Amino acid sequence: MKIELGQKLYEGKAKIVYATNRPGTVVQYFKDDATAFNALKRGTIVGKGEVNNQMSATLFRLLEKARVPTHFLEQLSGREMLCRHLDIIKIETIVRNIVAGSLAKRTGLPEGTPVRPPIVELYYKSDPLGDPMLNDEHVRMMKLASPKELAWLKKQALRINDVLRPFLLKKGLLLVDFKLEFGRHRGTLYLGDEISPDTCRLWDAKTRQKLDKDRFRQDLGGVEDAYQEVYRRVVQDGKAA
Ligand code: UDP
Repeated sequence: MKIELGQKLYEGKAKIVYATNRPGTVVQYFKDDATAFNALKRGTIVGKGEVNNQMSATLFRLLEKARVPTHFLEQLSGREMLCRHLDIIKIETIVRNIVAGSLAKRTGLPEGTPVRPPIVELYYKSDPLGDPMLNDEHVRMMKLASPKELAWLKKQALRINDVLRPFLLKKGLLLVDFKLEFGRHRGTLYLGDEISPDTCRLWDAKTRQKLDKDRFRQDLGGVEDAYQEVYRRVVQDGKAA
């Protein structure tokens, strides 16, 4: 059955989600729009949508092979991915291998300090509140996820890190930290959203050069080039292999 796009269900900062003619599925369309600092900073990163869609597809396939359930079903085009329709849990799960960003700010530890073993953090997915950090008790109090779901989600986050970190290192990329979103579909939990330079910090393993959205957040220049470099290493290199 040819997949046809139905109505727009949701438009976010970087993606549009459409209903489709196949029940229980949606299409994620990846845009070039970029925002940072809770949308105070806005811009365009040319080619970003294609990089993020195809990198996410590559990593979701890798995770499926490692038996991590993901919403990914099929890459439809350069910017479109067919996914299971999830009821997204309003928690942003962050895994950290190296100190950067808000962890450096909160702890005073210098950026680049190794985090061993890796840690998992939870944030409330809420634009009006600016994604505040939560602990397990807040999650329970707010009924965002059951204790069983939360335990599963944290365990999966570390398993995902165990799959992605060595894979990216082989491509010469340090996986500094990343954000995950999970959701429910027909009574089962799946990894959703995307895994891309918008949602991961990636540093060149040799030079420690930033190859992710921090180039946009911090006005470092070379934003498009960084996304294309990640595309070459993760998507193209994988196809050639
Ligand atoms: N992140 C994200 N969306 C968010 C917040 C964070 O994708 O709304 C990602 C971010 O790109 C980084 C990781 O999660 O890879 C950790 O982000 P951090 O808490 O350091 O916040 P930031 O410094 O990005 O504000």
